[in-house]
Formats: sequence, structure tokens, C-alpha cells
Amino acid sequence: MNTPPPPPPLSKGDETRRDQRHFPCPNCGADLRFDPGAAAMVCTHCEAEVEVPHVDDEAAQVEHDLLEHIRKGLDFETVETPSLNCETCGASIEFDADEHSRLCPFCDSAIVADVTLQRHIVPQGLLPFAVREKQAHEVMHKWLKARWFAPSHISSAAAVEHFAGVYVPTWTYDAYSVTDYTGKRGRRVGSGKNRRMVWTKVSGTVSGAFDDVLVSGSQSVSAEFKDALTPWPLGNLETYQTEFLAGFRAENHTVGLEDGYLEGQEFMRVKIRDWIKADIGGDAQKITSSTSTFSKQSFKHLLLPVWITHYSLEGRRYRMSVNGQTGKVYGQRPFSTKKLLAGALAAFVAFLLLGALVSLSFGPKMRTDHPPANAQATSWFKPDN
Ligand SMILES: [Zn+2]
Ligand SMILES: [Zn+2]
Repeated sequence: MNTPPPPPPLSKGDETRRDQRHFPCPNCGADLRFDPGAAAMVCTHCEAEVEVPHVDDEAAQVEHDLLEHIRKGLDFETVETPSLNCETCGASIEFDADEHSRLCPFCDSAIVADVTLQRHIVPQGLLPFAVREKQAHEVMHKWLKARWFAPSHISSAAAVEHFAGVYVPTWTYDAYSVTDYTGKRGRRVGSGKNRRMVWTKVSGTVSGAFDDVLVSGSQSVSAEFKDALTPWPLGNLETYQTEFLAGFRAENHTVGLEDGYLEGQEFMRVKIRDWIKADIGGDAQKITSSTSTFSKQSFKHLLLPVWITHYSLEGRRYRMSVNGQTGKVYGQRPFSTKKLLAGALAAFVAFLLLGALVSLSFGPKMRTDHPPANAQATSWFKPDN
């Protein structure tokens, strides 16, 4: 093993460093690549390690004033990088002009467009890859093997595929909301045939703060981001440095700041309805009207690490992605018709047996529903009370 040479002299804020995508090895001149396991850049040829300088300025965690940015127009720091636009899924991805393979990592289609210089936002921070490609393979196979109703040869079909490591652009939004509402609280009264709901008019105010509501800045992976690949440990954010990108791809924002905020607000409004329902209480709730005022809106623009692969099975391609920080996996998956039919039959028989048992032991029974207390509390947001 070679002794690690000193890191190349790169000063923070150096304009050329923002553009830099290639880092030559100080020993042999070959390309250095960011190694998630070592959290350093490693030479592809002589295995020399070069540390990524840790920038301790907390730029990654800074919240920017959303309304000011929208009012003034975009005043982000931008940079031009060689990029390709995928005609199929709309992704804009950094590519070298001399790369032979031009497969879109998101939708797996061959990109025929030429590499062009594209101007895009320099993200303020990123979550570096912490999971290696080998580990992504391992978690994928574990996941595939655990799928019910999947064809038996699914894992071997995926064995040959390579993962692409992609940094996906992301917006996060904070906001404080105050909502006045009117509605009705329902109470169940009576029993048996006389059972009915009695409604009372109610009104009130709910308020709460949203913290780091994630909206994908990419049109190509939104399903994964909203549900399956979360949570993202945003406490591990690093100030944006191109060293982390060495050997990986970065996707450019294709969803703008304002459009992203509209999507974030949709998420917030769903949560606000939950707050209102919890505030109304009772056995059932109706919301007649609600008016929300948002304030203290702020945002961050980040890159999040995702391993993406596609595998073929019976003539179809399926996408798998793995959270590059946590190893959480999300996959499109095929179902085996044979296994599904067998499973459905087994479930049907079990259902019949269970039904017979329940009616024998308990007889008919009324179900009473109580709204779960604090059902709305998750790590996404903090209602005031
Ligand atoms: Zn080297
Ligand atoms: Zn694509």
C-alpha cells in the first residue's frame, strides 16, 4: 500500500474548483474517484488516497429566504458543465463528451443528444455517498430474495447489472403555517338500529412548523423520493465540493425553486388537514372551510446520493434504487403469475377458515372507533400543540 500523498492545494471558494470534475492522482496522474467507504478520493490506478478537505463553514445547513429569492429572481451561483438531456424522462445529467456509453441512469434509454455545456445551479451542500456499489448490490439481492410472489430467478437476473451512482438535486422547504378553519364534529349516539351521527358546528385555529420538507429537483425519481428512499440523514450534509462528485454523476435541477415550493405546499396542506381533524376531535370530522397563512418560508438546495440500476426479466426492464447514505432500497418488481395465483388461493382458504372461526367464537360485534391521539406527529413537522 502506498503512503497517502498530501492533498492537492485547493483553496475554498476557488472558482475553478467549482468547475472541476477530474482530479489527477498526484502519484501517477490517473483519475481519482471518491470512495464512499474511505470518505476520501482513491486513485483508480495506484490506489493512492487523497483526503477530501473538510469545509467547516456550515454552508450546507444555511436556510435561504424563499420569498426574497423569488422576488429578486434567481441569484444562485451557477456553473457550466458538459451535460446530456434525456428525451425520454427529462433528466439533465452531467456527462463527459468522450464517454461512450450514453445510457440514462434513470430510465435506461440510450441518449442520442449531443453533450452540450449547460448552466446550472451550484448546490449549497450534499450528502456524500457512504454506501459502496458492492454494498448496494448486496442490499438489492437481499431485497429481491425477500419479495413475495416474485419469480424465483429474479435475483440471478439482476446479478450482472452495474449500478450508476447519481447525485440527485433536491429542494428542502421550511415554513410556519397558521390555519383558521370551520367544520363539524361528529359524535356517534345510540346503538343497534338507532345508531347515528350527531354533528356540531366547530371552528378553530391550528398552527405549526414544517422542517425540511423534501421536494425532488428531478422529474425522474420523484416516486422514490417521496416515499421509499426516505429518511435522509440531513445532519450529515457537507458543503458542496466537486471532490465528492469524482467518479459519480450529478443531475441538474429540472424542477425550479417555485414549482418545488408549490409541491412542498401540497404536502404541507395534507398535514394541515390532519392537524385540523385532530383539533376537531370526536368520532368523525368535516372541514367546511380553511384558510392558511404561511410565513418564515426558507429553502436549501442539495444533492442526495442514489445508486440506480436496471435489470431485465422476461423481456422487461425494472428499476432499482438504493439510498447512497443509508442503504435503504426501493425497487420496481415483477410478480410471478403462478405464485400470485397460488398465494391468492391460499389466502382465500385462510379467509374462509378464519371467518368460520370468528363467527363461532364471538358472534356479531359492533366496532367502536376512536381517533388515534397524536396520529399526525412524525419527524417531518412539529405542530405547536
Ligand atoms: Zn495514482
Ligand atoms: Zn432518462
